[in-house]
Amino acid sequence: MITNSMHILFSGVVVTIIGITTYKLGIIDLLGVIAAESVGLIIIIFGGWEFFVILLTFLSIAGIFTKYKYAEKRKMGMTEGKNGARSWQNVLANSVVASVFAIAYGLIPSSKALMAGFLGAISTSIADTLATEIGLLSRYEPRLITNLSNRVKAGTSGGITLLGEAAGLFGGLLIASVSWGVGFTNPSILSILVSIGAGFLGCTFDSYLGATVQATFKCSVCGKDTEKNNHCQQPTLHVGGNKVMDNNMVNLISTIFGASIAVLIYLVITV
Ligand SMILES: [Zn+2]
Repeated sequence: MITNSMHILFSGVVVTIIGITTYKLGIIDLLGVIAAESVGLIIIIFGGWEFFVILLTFLSIAGIFTKYKYAEKRKMGMTEGKNGARSWQNVLANSVVASVFAIAYGLIPSSKALMAGFLGAISTSIADTLATEIGLLSRYEPRLITNLSNRVKAGTSGGITLLGEAAGLFGGLLIASVSWGVGFTNPSILSILVSIGAGFLGCTFDSYLGATVQATFKCSVCGKDTEKNNHCQQPTLHVGGNKVMDNNMVNLISTIFGASIAVLIYLVITV
């Protein structure tokens, strides 16, 4: 945990510069940047720079792949917020659980189980984001996770594609590699299981919730079905599922699940 005020000031300056850059690139909207900067600063102060680099990897990869083939996704009505910029709700849904683990680590240092929980949460977020953003571009129709013989339209909650699942695994691998690179973990079967295994299971759980309880909405402007409570910059109409279980709530619950799996994997293997 950082207690030196000069270090905190320096961290604030770095986080602000990164925040302004992501805003200028249109990766996150203004309130989203403020949310991301607050989360970033908390994670640096309580966890340290290694935690922050891992968070930043997720946020930048999510930003890049949300913008990737943006025009194609927009035609499908599947884009994020305004011009693909992520909102503060989306930023928080994907990073609150990781922040809680970083804060706990700052208060109980050297707890490797808390580091595992942090990695599990971030790996779930990156796996889910990549599975969604890259899976949308699959040439094949998605299949419903609860009934794989049932083909659904691209963008349907709970729909999975081989391309999306591969992208999710790649996300976990990326987090594992970065965590080795910054010395957060050592290359080991354990760290692979924590990042790739927990990330993949968290992402799968996200799809499962998508197929079972997630709210579905209809856009009153363009008429498209969507999992977002806002579309064409207008609030959407609730047509199915549990209204409270919107996309952000599902992301939040899935990161709790992914983090718990990571802690469990760590405890089972080491204790
Ligand atoms: Zn619309």
